Amino acid sequence: MQVVWAPWRMEYVGQKVERGCIFCGALAGDPRERLLLGTTEKTLVMLNRYPYQNGHLMVAPRRHTADLPGLPPDEHADLADTLRRALASLAEAFGPEGFNVGMNLGACAGAGVVDHLHWHIVPRWSGDTNFMPVVADVRVMPQHLVATYERLRPAFAWLEPHARAPRAPA
Ligand SMILES: [Zn+2]
Repeated sequence: MQVVWAPWRMEYVGQKVERGCIFCGALAGDPRERLLLGTTEKTLVMLNRYPYQNGHLMVAPRRHTADLPGLPPDEHADLADTLRRALASLAEAFGPEGFNVGMNLGACAGAGVVDHLHWHIVPRWSGDTNFMPVVADVRVMPQHLVATYERLRPAFAWLEPHARAPRAPA
């Protein structure tokens, strides 16, 4: 059996699975600890703790909802714009040759968190490992998550570093 250096898997094995929603939790805790790159008025951007690839990001509404068709237009516009800008920032920071961008809605579709919708952005390089079977692959994780977080932060300076309170209705 191959010995695999996979620190994020070690954390997964070594820690109890946290209760509650990871996206809502990211807004409540220490940003770096929660791997939260930042927020806009209605959207959050964070690193995936169990990445398919180094730099695997998630972009989600700040509001706890699974209802994509039911998102109000302003919330969806903010989400879509943040997704677009996050893609550009990831390109600037890591220079990938391609991306997988996708959303899994529902457990049967592969969503790990079913009740808080989120986009995945996975940077890709030619010759990297295929999308799904990479979790335990030694090539996938050349940097630890915090190092990745620190490397990405400058490119995401356009985000609020901490989760600011939602703007009060005018
Ligand atoms: Zn949530």
